[in-house]
Amino acid sequence: MALLPEVKADYGKLKNFVNGEWVESSTSKYLDIENPTTAKPIGQVPMTTTDETNAAIEAAREAWQSWRETPPITRARLMFRLKEIMEGHFENIARIMVQEQGKTIDEARGETRRTIENVEVAAGIPSLMMGYNLEDGAASGIDEEAVVTPLGVFGAICPFNFPAMIPFWFWPYAVASGNTFILKSSKQVPLTQAYIFKLVEEAGFPPGVVNLLNGSHEVADAMMEHPSMKGISFVGSTPIAKYVYKKSAENGKRVQAQGGAKNSLIVMPDAVLPRTVSNMLASFYGCAGQRCLAGANLIAVGDVAEPVLNKFVEGAKKIKVGYGLDESVNMGPVVSGAAKKNILGYIEKGIEEGAKLVLDGRGIKVPGYEAGHFIGPTVFKDVTPDMTIAKDEIFGPVVAFMAMDTLDDAIEFVNSSPFGNAASIYTQSGRSAKDLRYNVHAGNIGINVGVVAAMAFFPFGGFKDSFFGDLHGQGRDAVTFYTDRKVVITRWF
Ligand code: NAD
Repeated sequence: MALLPEVKADYGKLKNFVNGEWVESSTSKYLDIENPTTAKPIGQVPMTTTDETNAAIEAAREAWQSWRETPPITRARLMFRLKEIMEGHFENIARIMVQEQGKTIDEARGETRRTIENVEVAAGIPSLMMGYNLEDGAASGIDEEAVVTPLGVFGAICPFNFPAMIPFWFWPYAVASGNTFILKSSKQVPLTQAYIFKLVEEAGFPPGVVNLLNGSHEVADAMMEHPSMKGISFVGSTPIAKYVYKKSAENGKRVQAQGGAKNSLIVMPDAVLPRTVSNMLASFYGCAGQRCLAGANLIAVGDVAEPVLNKFVEGAKKIKVGYGLDESVNMGPVVSGAAKKNILGYIEKGIEEGAKLVLDGRGIKVPGYEAGHFIGPTVFKDVTPDMTIAKDEIFGPVVAFMAMDTLDDAIEFVNSSPFGNAASIYTQSGRSAKDLRYNVHAGNIGINVGVVAAMAFFPFGGFKDSFFGDLHGQGRDAVTFYTDRKVVITRWF
C-alpha cells in the first residue's frame, strides 16, 4: 500500500517558545531527532541550559499576574480557539508523530483526538473551577465561602511515548485555571510539540503564559529548583518519577509523578474468546508495546490456557509490521536503537531463565526499512512469576504468557508487583469481574477491555510505583492540583 505523504515541516534546529517568541538556544549541544523507521535524522533538538530555563520561568512568573486577572470565560475562549485550530491540523499532528515516534497512523490519529479532548474539557473551566459557599456557615449572619484560586507557574516533564497527548493531560488545565506554564517535551520526540506550539501561538495566548522548552534533565532540574515554580507534573519511568517526586517535594513544590507499569491481562474460562483475543492483541502490540497501559503479562486461568495461547499466537503472526504512514500496517518500530537493544536484552534474559519462545520477533526484516528499529510480535510461554520478564517493565512487543489455576492466584500475582498501573479481566461473570476490581491494587481496571484509557474528563494515574502523589492528571483532579481553595468568612455590620 502507498505511504501517506510525510509532513515537511521546518525540521532544522528546533527553537524554544518563550514569552511569546521562538528563541534559538545558546547551547552548543544539539542532539539528532531520528525517524525510528528509517533511522535517519529529521531534525536537531537543543539541550537548553539552566540559565535559559530560569529566564523562561521568570517570563512565566511575570505573565502570571495579568493572566490570573483574565476572567475564566476569556481564558476558556482561547481554549475553544486552540481546539478549532488544532482540528484544522489534525492529520499533520498525527503524521509528525508517526515520523518521530514510530507509531501507526491510526494510533497517532487516536492520540491526536485524545489530545484535543483535553483542550475541550479545559474549556469548561468556568464550571470546573467554581468554589462553594454556605450562608450563615460560620454563625448566624456570618457567611463562609471557598474560592478556588490559581497559584502561579507550573511545569510538566514528559516522556517519549505519547508526544502529543501527555503534555495535554496537564497544561490546558493549569493555564485555563489561571496559571502560567513551562512544558519540557521529550528530547526523543520534540517535533510534535514544536508543531503544536505554532498553533498555540496562533491561538493568541498572551506572551509568557505557555512556554515550550526542549532539552534533557538539566531543564527538568532547573524547573524543580526554581523558587517561582509552584508545582511539577511528571510522566516517565519509575526511577525518574521517584527522583522527581523527592526533589520537587524537597524544594517545596506540589508534585504528581506518573511512573512505569507492568500490566496483566487475565483470561477466565468463560471469556468470549475471539473478541478477547483481538482486544488483547491491540493491548499488547499497540504502539509496539510502548504504552503505560499496554498488556505485558497474559494470564490464562484454568483449562482455557491452551486455546488462548494458540489463538493469541495465531493472531500475533498476522500483525503487519512496517512504517506507520502505510495505513495497512498494524505495528511500527520501537522508538530508538537503545530501546531495541534493551528489549532484545529482555528476550535473551527470558530464554536464559527458562521461558519458551513460541513467537520470536527478533530478526524481523521490513523491506525498504532495514535500518529501522523493528521488533516483531514476541510471545514467551511457560513463564513463572519469579522470572525477570514477568516482573520488569520491558516496554516493547513482548508477551509473557502464564497459566494459573485460579483467579485468586492471578490476583495475588498482580498484587505482588511493585507497579499498579492497570489490570484487566476477560470474563462473562460479574462475580469474577467484581473480585478483580475490588481486590487488585491498580489505578485502572479493565473489564473485557485491554487498554484502560481514561477519557479527558476522568483522572488518569496508577497506584504504588506507577504513581507518586495524590491528585492525577486530566479533568477535575488536574484543576484541583493546579489550584488552591481560599476560605473567606464575611460579616457585614
Ligand atoms: P524517562 O523517565 O526516561 O523520561 C521521562 C522524562 O524525564 C523526559 O522528559 C526526560 O528528559 C526526563 N528525565 C530523564 N532523566 C531525568 C533526570 N535524571 N532528571 C530529571 N528528568 C529526567 O521515560 P521515557 O523513556 O521517556 O518514557 C517511558 C516511560 O514512561 C515508561 O516507563 C512508561 O511506563 C512511562 N509512562 C508512564 C505513563 C503513566 O501514565 N504512568 C504514561 C506514559 C509513559
